[in-house]
Amino acid sequence: MWGGAAVSAEDRLQRGEGKAIAGRTFAMLRPYRRQALVAAVVITISTLTVLAGPLLLRYGIDHGIGEQDRGALSAAVAAYIVVAVIAAFASHLQIRLVARVGEGFLRDLRVRVFDHLQSLSMAFFDREKAGVLVSRMTADIDAMGELIQFGLLMFVMNGLLVVLTAALLLKLSPLLAVMCLVALPLVVVASVRFQRQSNRAYLTVRDRVGHNLSTMQEGISGVRVIQAFGREGEQTDRFRRSSRDLYDAHMDSVRISVWYFPVVEFAGAATTATVVGVGGWMVHQGTISLGTVAAFVLLLANLFEPVQQLSQLFNTVQAAAASLKKLYTLLDTETELPERPRAVDLPASGAIEVRGVSFGYSGSDLPVLADVELTIAAGERIAFVGPTGAGKSTLAKLVARLYDPTAGSISFAGVDLRDATNQSLRERIVVVPQEGFLFDGTLMENVRIARSDASDAEVEQALRDAGVWERFAALPDGLATEVRERGSRLSAGERQLVSLARAALVDPAVLVLDEATSSLDPGTEALVEKALDHLVEGRTVIVIAHRLTTAARADRVAVVADGRLAELGTHAELLELGGRYAALYESWIGSTP
Ligand code: ADP
Repeated sequence: MWGGAAVSAEDRLQRGEGKAIAGRTFAMLRPYRRQALVAAVVITISTLTVLAGPLLLRYGIDHGIGEQDRGALSAAVAAYIVVAVIAAFASHLQIRLVARVGEGFLRDLRVRVFDHLQSLSMAFFDREKAGVLVSRMTADIDAMGELIQFGLLMFVMNGLLVVLTAALLLKLSPLLAVMCLVALPLVVVASVRFQRQSNRAYLTVRDRVGHNLSTMQEGISGVRVIQAFGREGEQTDRFRRSSRDLYDAHMDSVRISVWYFPVVEFAGAATTATVVGVGGWMVHQGTISLGTVAAFVLLLANLFEPVQQLSQLFNTVQAAAASLKKLYTLLDTETELPERPRAVDLPASGAIEVRGVSFGYSGSDLPVLADVELTIAAGERIAFVGPTGAGKSTLAKLVARLYDPTAGSISFAGVDLRDATNQSLRERIVVVPQEGFLFDGTLMENVRIARSDASDAEVEQALRDAGVWERFAALPDGLATEVRERGSRLSAGERQLVSLARAALVDPAVLVLDEATSSLDPGTEALVEKALDHLVEGRTVIVIAHRLTTAARADRVAVVADGRLAELGTHAELLELGGRYAALYESWIGSTP
């Protein structure tokens, strides 16, 4: 079977979609307009050279041989060679041009999709699995790469060839042409049917290969259990059934090819016979020249082969179109946290006010937070405590506007976060995650991610501000240490220090800290504590506390339970209150040696 492309039912485009996709693709090809135009011209020239061969043969036979005109014969042969040379050049050029335009288009698309992904909100990444997104960037773009590398040129050339050949045949001899073209609809219908059936058969084969493999794998990985319970026979039966299904699927796909190819070949042979027979008779009658009949026979090849190839390319084209559709859909996804047209910069400092905030993650009906009221004064340190899943992180994320509340509002220094510019929002409020992500590169570059225009001196200062300068300066390569390289991988504690240094570099008014749940190695633990002490100085701090010592040190404690703010007050007040916090504290004290 040709190629590896197959299109499943859900990937088939609806009517009208194809047109929209093509229109958009043309628009994206605008920068390549000139190259694409040149490519079109070269392809046309290349196609014309294919048609020139039979015509030169006709001339050679009728004039060079029939009329015994040596000059004409030599001219025909010379022209044939010239055409062959042109054809070689055109072919060389068209492959290069199509590749350049096609690969350029793919590169633009890749970058565009990636750029768009980077701009989308957290809510989007909650919904979409990273694997699916990566497959958009790889499999879907590859599907188009395949078309561009192997199919696009053939598709365009064959289409052109069929039309031009048919026109030429009609011009040479309408009567003979009609007799040839009688078989064409048969070939077209057979090809379309073949394409449908083979697509279906291919999908089935692919499914069953997968099933067969997983059955085999299970049988091997699970062999101990199978033998322990004496189930070898059953497993073999299962594998036998799966192998028989695979065999059937393969045989089905062979059955489809074995009727199609003979039909097409027979149609070709029958048409050739007709041309020779009827054409020969017409030569006898003197209504047509011998050369024309010879040219007809040759031109027929240009008619049947392209139709076959077109039908086989159809799947590749469809698969590419389906991939384009998915990528365009992704590009059309809008970020859920857009900056308002008249957004303002957040003031340098101020209180955070949470007013009547409710929230639920999109895609799930469960409300996570309901009706939360909270004012955090400038410079206050507040700890969120509560059971896992209560909504502490969610509330913290809302304060940093990683999401917008479903109802109510959150403001900083009197400005609703939804009215703030993204830039000022990220400068005023910084989230330090539990585990800082390290990018490929040096320590210096990793800290600088927080503010790309920071100078080396500023990064150094940030590290000093966080009280971690000595630790990193002591590394053999200092700040030039490659963080991902084998041997210099940073420990969890050191990664945390990088996160804190990043926050110090931004110098925000509000810090949102997600306290690490897992304990760090004692050496860095003390350093992290010290860095935190440096960092929280003079800032509003919201900490998602997992350790109650952290809560005890905060100015106030907010207990989040079941999506509500259950208790709010100082450590002492809440102990006094004797509610949830007191209970948590009691049990914690009890469990700590
Ligand atoms: P906590 O920080 O108190 O452990 P979270 O704020 O992380 O709690 O989670 C609160 C609730 O929201 C949980 O039920 C959790 O399953 C759900 N949740 C958290 N993050 C998401 C998300 N990205 N998408 C959907 N549901 C989420």
